[in-house]
Amino acid sequence: MNQFQYVRPTKNKAAIDTVAKEQTAMFIAGGTNLLDLMKRGIVVPEKLVDINKLPLRKIEKENGAVRIGALALNGEVAEDKLVLEKHPLLSQALNAGASAQLRNMATVGGNMLQRTRCPYFYDTALPCNKREPGTGCGALQGFNRMHAIFGHSDKCIAVHPSDMSVALVALDANVLVSGPKGDRKIPFAEFHRLPGDTPQIDTNLQKGELITAVEVPETAFTKNVNYLKIRDRASYAFALVSVAAALQIENNTIKDARLAMGGVAHKPWRLTDAEKALVGKPATEQTFRQAAEIAMRGAKAFEHNQFKLKLGPNTIVQALKNAAAAV
Ligand code: SF4
Repeated sequence: MNQFQYVRPTKNKAAIDTVAKEQTAMFIAGGTNLLDLMKRGIVVPEKLVDINKLPLRKIEKENGAVRIGALALNGEVAEDKLVLEKHPLLSQALNAGASAQLRNMATVGGNMLQRTRCPYFYDTALPCNKREPGTGCGALQGFNRMHAIFGHSDKCIAVHPSDMSVALVALDANVLVSGPKGDRKIPFAEFHRLPGDTPQIDTNLQKGELITAVEVPETAFTKNVNYLKIRDRASYAFALVSVAAALQIENNTIKDARLAMGGVAHKPWRLTDAEKALVGKPATEQTFRQAAEIAMRGAKAFEHNQFKLKLGPNTIVQALKNAAAAV
């Protein structure tokens, strides 16, 4: 690991100023991904700005939304009374992520900023455009079983690993940030980026911008919800495919729906066309199958992840069935 300086400010402004001014300074909170990246020499910050002393851990109701501080731990958010009552889908997604030990260390802000788990990204002996732009993508012709089927480019086919983010994009959350130019609110669907020609850039955060909270608007999706994650090991693994499904059902008719997938794209993948196809229809398997077919339009797999073309729609159907049956 490289040598680095370490500071621990107590005011947001001091933390933001340091990271904005110093080219290789980075924020650190739980460090559950960043420290791995540093140990392998994938990121080499000369200064770490520890933000754990900043007042960013509260979970509270505010203006018709649940506001979750960026430093709230994944485990405590999943078990929070307000989150369980208003956003059970988020709670399910958080509990599907990582291990209990990691959930008790990792923060909400860090969760959405975690890097892909593409093995070529973590092996500095292999080519990777995300780690070192212009070197090529080892996964394109390599072992690409875990990789994307939507939104990929010829520069990168990696997927975003967060479960929490799949629920947040389905719930129309906003990311609240503070930076050198002031505060702004980023709709969750616009927070992460597709790889295009610049796969080294994961998000639309600007240099020095600090995530302060996530705001999840209150909705009617408080009962018929399901986060279904398909993975190699139930105990602890990243998603092959995951689905966040939320339904509002009245007299067996779907009044409103939210649907998003994980493990399939460089960002959490919202399925708005499939959502529209669900509304006004009876909550039956046939309806769910039709929506799943629509959801998979445009999917393109690679040599080792063809199975996702079948696993994807089957997971959507099962998540919708689970959501409809939830009591
Ligand atoms: Fe790197 Fe992306 Fe290719 Fe993986 S898929 S090797 S992260 S460029």
